[in-house]
Amino acid sequence: MERNVLVLADIRNDKLRNVTFESLTAARKLADGGTVYGALLGKNVSGMADALAHYGADQVFVVENDVLANYVPDAFAIALETVIRESGAEVVLMAHSAIGRDLAPKLAARFEAGQVSDIVDVQMEGDKIVFTRPIYAGKAFTKNVITDDMVFATVRPNNLPAAEPDTSCSANVTTVSVDLPADSLRTFIKEVVKKSAGGADLSEAKIIVSGGRGVKSADGFKPLQELADALGAAVGASRGACDAGYCDYALQIGQTGKVVTPDLYIACGISGAIQHLAGMSNSKVIVAINKDPEAPIFKVADYGIVGDLFEVVPLLTEELKKLLC
Ligand code: FAD
Repeated sequence: MERNVLVLADIRNDKLRNVTFESLTAARKLADGGTVYGALLGKNVSGMADALAHYGADQVFVVENDVLANYVPDAFAIALETVIRESGAEVVLMAHSAIGRDLAPKLAARFEAGQVSDIVDVQMEGDKIVFTRPIYAGKAFTKNVITDDMVFATVRPNNLPAAEPDTSCSANVTTVSVDLPADSLRTFIKEVVKKSAGGADLSEAKIIVSGGRGVKSADGFKPLQELADALGAAVGASRGACDAGYCDYALQIGQTGKVVTPDLYIACGISGAIQHLAGMSNSKVIVAINKDPEAPIFKVADYGIVGDLFEVVPLLTEELKKLLC
């Protein structure tokens, strides 16, 4: 059954995040011969249109406006609603990011449509779209069929496969102008203060080295950072480490932190509380380093090292450097 599917591009630091390409690949499958639309909302974003076409967008709607330079909920909702109405999309996909989590239910309510969050798989069963999403902090998965005529879904990064890009495609661009008068917006961004410069994007990282309360201090993260540098990995943390003030909350992984699905997750000095597992147990390979052989993290680990992280981590880094040189 043909359907029109629209993907809202997820842009961070002026770059398209991979979840956009993963969503477009899924959109191609769901469209089943229908049209795949991309939507670029922001300031100076039109240059990204071809990249959307490389991953399967037949047509790209571009809304450029100074107000859209940062995420302003009302402005994005108005802009996306306009694009959806213009495209006639029946399925709308966006990243399960802070923006997607805010925008999808807002728009679903406006369109009186169904909504499903945090999908990790999507398949066609006959004419039905079956969305898979985790429940009970990742301990189980449900398959969801939305019976409304229209559906909004947020896609967990790093779970759906992205197709190989076809760089011979160029975008068919439709520029949409949207009126965003100040009195239609309830919030404004006056200034954006970045907490720290750089830093890998945890939710899209392929390898994460994560530290818990077992690192014992901010300095205790240094050997973890060295291991991460050797592997080209991002550094994450448990809430225990964040609460203790060893690192910034931006690194927190878990139920109330970031949800990650890297190819390799190395947990150092993390006990494996259920709230932490909720954010990382779907990692493809989990390595746990903990001096307590009874630590619950070993129950989800593919490889476990019982030992002191301050001995094990530097040894690992040294060996990896030899291997990777
Ligand atoms: P601990 O439980 O103290 O574990 C430290 C581990 O380090 C121990 O297993 C110990 O054996 C090991 N260790 C100590 N020294 C060494 C050493 N030298 N070498 C090797 N191992 C060593 N937690 C999260 O992580 N993310 C969340 O999003 C989150 N959300 C929460 C939401 C709610 C509503 C609640 C109630 C809790 C939440 N928590 C979350 C907290 C969670 O319950 C745990 O308290 C927390 O994950 C514990 O962090 P930890 O494993 O670093 O610390």
